[in-house]
Amino acid sequence: MNKNGIIKIANGIYQIKYYWLGVANVYMFLIVGEEKAMLIDTGYSITGALQYARKVTPLPIILVNTHGHFDHIGGNGDIGEAYLSEADWETARQHSDYNYLKNMMAHYMEQSLPVRLLLKIPRLNNDMEKGIHVKKCRYNRLPAKNFFELGNRKVLFLETPGHTRGSICLFDEKTKSLFTGDMICEEGVLLGFDHSTSVSEYKKSVEKIQKFYMENDGELILPSHHKLPVAVSIFERYIDLCNKIIDRKIEGTYIDDGLSQGLFVKENNLQMIYNKISE
Ligand SMILES: [Zn+2]
Ligand SMILES: [Zn+2]
Repeated sequence: MNKNGIIKIANGIYQIKYYWLGVANVYMFLIVGEEKAMLIDTGYSITGALQYARKVTPLPIILVNTHGHFDHIGGNGDIGEAYLSEADWETARQHSDYNYLKNMMAHYMEQSLPVRLLLKIPRLNNDMEKGIHVKKCRYNRLPAKNFFELGNRKVLFLETPGHTRGSICLFDEKTKSLFTGDMICEEGVLLGFDHSTSVSEYKKSVEKIQKFYMENDGELILPSHHKLPVAVSIFERYIDLCNKIIDRKIEGTYIDDGLSQGLFVKENNLQMIYNKISE
Protein backbone atom coordinates (compact mmCIF):
# COMPACT_ATOMS: atom_id res chain seq x y z
CA MET A 1 0.00 0.00 0.00
CA ASN A 2 0.94 3.64 -0.44
CA LYS A 3 2.05 4.27 3.09
CA ASN A 4 4.34 7.14 4.08
CA GLY A 5 7.10 6.26 6.51
CA ILE A 6 10.75 5.40 7.12
CA ILE A 7 12.05 1.84 6.83
CA LYS A 8 15.49 0.24 7.21
CA ILE A 9 16.69 -1.34 3.96
CA ALA A 10 20.35 -2.16 4.70
CA ASN A 11 22.96 -1.65 7.43
CA GLY A 12 22.62 2.05 8.35
CA ILE A 13 20.49 2.80 5.28
CA TYR A 14 16.90 3.97 5.57
CA GLN A 15 14.31 4.73 2.92
CA ILE A 16 11.76 7.47 3.51
CA LYS A 17 8.68 6.81 1.40
CA TYR A 18 6.29 9.56 0.48
CA TYR A 19 3.27 9.46 -1.78
CA TRP A 20 2.42 12.85 -3.17
CA LEU A 21 -1.35 13.39 -3.40
CA GLY A 22 -1.50 9.81 -2.14
CA VAL A 23 -0.24 8.39 -5.46
CA ALA A 24 3.04 9.73 -6.89
CA ASN A 25 5.90 8.09 -5.00
CA VAL A 26 9.17 9.79 -4.14
CA TYR A 27 11.87 8.37 -1.90
CA MET A 28 14.50 9.97 0.23
CA PHE A 29 17.35 8.08 1.87
CA LEU A 30 19.19 8.41 5.16
CA ILE A 31 22.69 7.04 5.66
CA VAL A 32 23.90 6.88 9.24
CA GLY A 33 27.62 7.04 10.04
CA GLU A 34 29.32 7.14 13.45
CA GLU A 35 29.57 10.94 13.63
CA LYS A 36 27.11 12.25 11.07
CA ALA A 37 24.16 11.17 9.01
CA MET A 38 23.42 12.05 5.39
CA LEU A 39 19.97 12.82 4.10
CA ILE A 40 19.65 12.33 0.34
CA ASP A 41 16.89 14.71 -0.81
CA THR A 42 13.93 16.08 1.16
CA GLY A 43 10.91 15.30 -1.06
CA TYR A 44 8.17 17.91 -1.12
CA SER A 45 7.89 20.86 1.26
CA ILE A 46 5.08 19.01 3.09
CA THR A 47 6.88 15.65 3.28
CA GLY A 48 8.62 16.28 6.60
CA ALA A 49 11.77 14.40 5.59
CA LEU A 50 13.76 15.86 8.50
CA GLN A 51 11.17 14.64 11.05
CA TYR A 52 11.39 11.13 9.60
CA ALA A 53 15.19 11.25 9.79
CA ARG A 54 14.99 12.41 13.41
CA LYS A 55 13.00 9.29 14.32
CA VAL A 56 16.14 7.31 13.46
CA THR A 57 19.13 9.42 14.49
CA PRO A 58 20.05 12.42 16.68
CA LEU A 59 23.38 12.91 14.79
CA PRO A 60 24.16 16.10 12.83
CA ILE A 61 22.70 15.79 9.32
CA ILE A 62 24.41 16.64 6.03
CA LEU A 63 21.85 17.24 3.29
CA VAL A 64 22.75 16.36 -0.32
CA ASN A 65 20.38 16.76 -3.28
CA THR A 66 20.50 14.38 -6.24
CA HIS A 67 19.23 17.30 -8.37
CA GLY A 68 17.24 20.52 -8.16
CA HIS A 69 13.63 19.43 -8.80
CA PHE A 70 10.86 20.46 -6.41
CA ASP A 71 9.99 16.85 -5.48
CA HIS A 72 13.58 16.44 -4.18
CA ILE A 73 14.40 19.84 -2.61
CA GLY A 74 11.01 20.76 -1.12
CA GLY A 75 11.97 20.26 2.53
CA ASN A 76 15.52 21.66 2.28
CA GLY A 77 14.47 24.81 4.13
CA ASP A 78 13.85 22.75 7.30
CA ILE A 79 17.60 22.06 7.38
CA GLY A 80 18.72 25.39 5.92
CA GLU A 81 21.60 24.34 3.69
CA ALA A 82 22.23 21.65 1.12
CA TYR A 83 24.94 20.37 -1.18
CA LEU A 84 23.82 20.58 -4.80
CA SER A 85 25.79 20.58 -8.04
CA GLU A 86 26.27 24.18 -9.14
CA ALA A 87 24.89 23.15 -12.55
CA ASP A 88 21.46 22.75 -10.87
CA TRP A 89 21.37 25.95 -8.80
CA GLU A 90 19.27 27.76 -11.41
CA THR A 91 16.87 24.80 -11.65
CA ALA A 92 16.55 24.74 -7.85
CA ARG A 93 15.87 28.48 -7.86
CA GLN A 94 13.02 28.01 -10.38
CA HIS A 95 11.72 25.00 -8.48
CA SER A 96 11.56 27.03 -5.25
CA ASP A 97 9.67 29.90 -6.90
CA TYR A 98 5.96 29.91 -6.05
CA ASN A 99 4.79 31.50 -9.32
CA TYR A 100 6.91 29.18 -11.44
CA LEU A 101 5.53 26.12 -9.63
CA LYS A 102 1.97 27.49 -9.70
CA ASN A 103 2.15 27.84 -13.50
CA MET A 104 3.73 24.41 -13.83
CA MET A 105 0.97 22.81 -11.76
CA ALA A 106 -1.75 24.66 -13.71
CA HIS A 107 -0.30 23.29 -16.93
CA TYR A 108 0.05 19.81 -15.42
CA MET A 109 -3.65 19.87 -14.45
CA GLU A 110 -4.60 20.95 -17.95
CA GLN A 111 -2.72 18.01 -19.43
CA SER A 112 -3.62 15.31 -16.91
CA LEU A 113 -7.18 14.24 -16.15
CA PRO A 114 -6.18 12.08 -13.12
CA VAL A 115 -4.35 15.04 -11.53
CA ARG A 116 -7.34 17.28 -12.25
CA LEU A 117 -9.67 14.81 -10.54
CA LEU A 118 -7.38 14.30 -7.54
CA LEU A 119 -7.11 18.02 -7.00
CA LYS A 120 -10.88 18.35 -6.77
CA ILE A 121 -10.50 16.74 -3.34
CA PRO A 122 -10.07 19.72 -0.96
CA ARG A 123 -7.51 18.01 1.29
CA LEU A 124 -5.28 17.12 -1.67
CA ASN A 125 -5.71 20.52 -3.27
CA ASN A 126 -4.62 22.03 0.03
CA ASP A 127 -1.57 19.71 0.09
CA MET A 128 -0.67 20.72 -3.46
CA GLU A 129 -0.94 24.41 -2.61
CA LYS A 130 1.27 23.96 0.49
CA GLY A 131 3.63 21.80 -1.56
CA ILE A 132 4.46 24.60 -3.99
CA HIS A 133 5.47 26.95 -1.18
CA VAL A 134 9.12 25.96 -0.95
CA LYS A 135 11.15 27.47 1.91
CA LYS A 136 14.48 29.07 1.05
CA CYS A 137 17.70 27.11 1.41
CA ARG A 138 21.38 27.98 1.01
CA TYR A 139 23.19 25.86 -1.58
CA ASN A 140 26.78 24.73 -1.23
CA ARG A 141 29.00 23.48 -4.02
CA LEU A 142 29.80 19.77 -3.97
CA PRO A 143 33.13 19.15 -2.21
CA ALA A 144 36.25 19.15 -4.40
CA LYS A 145 37.08 15.68 -3.08
CA ASN A 146 34.54 13.22 -4.46
CA PHE A 147 33.15 11.99 -1.16
CA PHE A 148 31.51 12.86 2.14
CA GLU A 149 32.82 11.41 5.43
CA LEU A 150 30.18 10.42 7.99
CA GLY A 151 32.55 8.81 10.53
CA ASN A 152 33.81 5.36 9.60
CA ARG A 153 31.58 5.62 6.56
CA LYS A 154 32.31 7.27 3.23
CA VAL A 155 29.69 8.28 0.70
CA LEU A 156 31.09 8.93 -2.79
CA PHE A 157 29.36 10.93 -5.49
CA LEU A 158 29.50 11.00 -9.27
CA GLU A 159 28.45 13.88 -11.50
CA THR A 160 26.04 12.47 -14.06
CA PRO A 161 24.36 15.06 -16.32
CA GLY A 162 21.14 13.87 -17.98
CA HIS A 163 17.74 14.29 -16.34
CA THR A 164 19.13 17.67 -15.23
CA ARG A 165 22.61 19.07 -15.96
CA GLY A 166 23.50 18.92 -12.28
CA SER A 167 22.20 15.40 -11.51
CA ILE A 168 24.46 13.28 -9.32
CA CYS A 169 24.51 9.68 -8.09
CA LEU A 170 25.79 8.72 -4.63
CA PHE A 171 27.46 5.52 -3.44
CA ASP A 172 27.69 4.22 0.11
CA GLU A 173 30.97 2.30 0.42
CA LYS A 174 29.86 0.24 3.40
CA THR A 175 26.78 -1.39 1.85
CA LYS A 176 27.80 -0.75 -1.79
CA SER A 177 24.46 0.94 -2.39
CA LEU A 178 24.05 3.28 -5.35
CA PHE A 179 21.52 6.11 -5.17
CA THR A 180 20.54 7.12 -8.68
CA GLY A 181 18.03 9.96 -8.11
CA ASP A 182 16.00 10.45 -11.30
CA MET A 183 18.80 9.28 -13.63
CA ILE A 184 17.90 5.57 -13.52
CA CYS A 185 14.61 4.00 -12.49
CA GLU A 186 12.34 1.16 -13.61
CA GLU A 187 9.82 3.50 -15.13
CA GLY A 188 12.12 5.50 -17.40
CA VAL A 189 13.84 8.87 -17.59
CA LEU A 190 12.69 12.37 -18.44
CA LEU A 191 15.09 14.37 -20.61
CA GLY A 192 12.32 16.73 -21.68
CA PHE A 193 13.21 19.78 -19.59
CA ASP A 194 15.08 22.86 -20.82
CA HIS A 195 17.71 21.89 -18.26
CA SER A 196 18.03 18.26 -19.45
CA THR A 197 20.88 17.01 -21.66
CA SER A 198 20.71 15.24 -25.01
CA VAL A 199 20.26 11.47 -25.28
CA SER A 200 23.98 11.08 -26.18
CA GLU A 201 25.13 12.91 -23.08
CA TYR A 202 22.68 10.97 -20.92
CA LYS A 203 24.05 7.72 -22.37
CA LYS A 204 27.61 8.78 -21.43
CA SER A 205 26.44 9.31 -17.86
CA VAL A 206 24.73 5.89 -17.71
CA GLU A 207 27.95 4.27 -18.97
CA LYS A 208 29.91 6.18 -16.34
CA ILE A 209 27.53 5.01 -13.57
CA GLN A 210 27.64 1.41 -14.81
CA LYS A 211 31.46 1.39 -14.94
CA PHE A 212 31.68 2.88 -11.46
CA TYR A 213 29.13 0.40 -10.09
CA MET A 214 31.00 -2.59 -11.56
CA GLU A 215 34.44 -1.39 -10.45
CA ASN A 216 33.17 -0.82 -6.92
CA ASP A 217 31.32 -4.17 -6.69
CA GLY A 218 27.95 -2.45 -6.33
CA GLU A 219 25.22 -4.47 -4.67
CA LEU A 220 22.10 -2.34 -4.47
CA ILE A 221 20.61 0.21 -6.90
CA LEU A 222 18.20 2.61 -5.24
CA PRO A 223 16.31 5.14 -7.38
CA SER A 224 14.14 8.01 -6.09
CA HIS A 225 10.94 6.80 -7.72
CA HIS A 226 9.07 3.66 -8.70
CA LYS A 227 10.31 0.15 -7.68
CA LEU A 228 13.44 -0.64 -5.74
CA PRO A 229 15.95 -2.14 -5.71
CA VAL A 230 16.53 -2.18 -9.45
CA ALA A 231 18.32 -5.08 -11.19
CA VAL A 232 21.84 -4.40 -12.50
CA SER A 233 20.68 -5.19 -16.06
CA ILE A 234 18.95 -1.80 -16.06
CA PHE A 235 22.16 -0.08 -17.24
CA GLU A 236 22.25 -2.18 -20.43
CA ARG A 237 18.55 -1.59 -21.00
CA TYR A 238 19.08 2.18 -20.87
CA ILE A 239 22.22 2.10 -23.02
CA ASP A 240 20.43 -0.04 -25.62
CA LEU A 241 17.46 2.37 -25.63
CA CYS A 242 19.82 5.33 -26.13
CA ASN A 243 21.62 3.53 -28.98
CA LYS A 244 18.34 2.83 -30.78
CA ILE A 245 17.47 6.54 -30.63
CA ILE A 246 20.98 7.69 -31.60
CA ASP A 247 21.10 5.21 -34.55
CA ARG A 248 17.61 6.40 -35.64
CA LYS A 249 16.19 2.89 -35.24
CA ILE A 250 13.35 4.33 -33.20
CA GLU A 251 11.90 7.80 -33.08
CA GLY A 252 9.64 9.31 -30.45
CA THR A 253 6.28 10.95 -30.95
CA TYR A 254 5.70 14.39 -29.46
CA ILE A 255 3.95 14.57 -26.12
CA ASP A 256 3.42 17.10 -23.37
CA ASP A 257 2.92 15.24 -20.10
CA GLY A 258 2.33 18.51 -18.30
CA LEU A 259 5.73 18.60 -16.59
CA SER A 260 8.05 18.10 -19.55
CA GLN A 261 7.66 18.18 -23.31
CA GLY A 262 9.42 16.25 -26.03
CA LEU A 263 9.60 13.06 -28.04
CA PHE A 264 8.26 10.01 -26.21
CA VAL A 265 9.48 6.45 -26.71
CA LYS A 266 8.77 3.22 -24.87
CA GLU A 267 11.27 0.43 -25.43
CA ASN A 268 12.94 -2.24 -23.26
CA ASN A 269 10.13 -1.57 -20.79
CA LEU A 270 11.50 1.93 -20.23
CA GLN A 271 9.97 5.25 -21.13
CA MET A 272 11.94 8.27 -22.25
CA ILE A 273 11.04 11.82 -23.19
CA TYR A 274 13.81 13.68 -25.00
CA ASN A 275 14.33 16.80 -27.11
CA LYS A 276 17.85 16.46 -28.47
CA ILE A 277 19.70 13.39 -29.70
CA SER A 278 23.13 15.02 -29.49
CA GLU A 279 24.41 18.39 -28.26
ZN1 LIG B 1 13.62 15.10 -11.28
ZN1 LIG C 1 11.84 13.14 -9.12
